[in-house]
Amino acid sequence: MDDTNSRIPGKTAHPNPRRATVMNCPYCTSENLFPDMETDNAWQCRDCCRVFSVKLHGHIDRGV
Ligand SMILES: [Zn+2]
Repeated sequence: MDDTNSRIPGKTAHPNPRRATVMNCPYCTSENLFPDMETDNAWQCRDCCRVFSVKLHGHIDRGV
């Protein structure tokens, strides 16, 4: 499991800091998203009914 987010210091506003914040569903662009309790770090889209998660793979160098 990638625990990158949990290693960032500071207060967490979200009960599960491993869940990456998303503003829109990547499949249908809906904003009707809710945390998925069964999968721990995923989101439910209440419009297209998909369950998905966002994974941070790392960073690229700036100035590419
Ligand atoms: Zn959707």
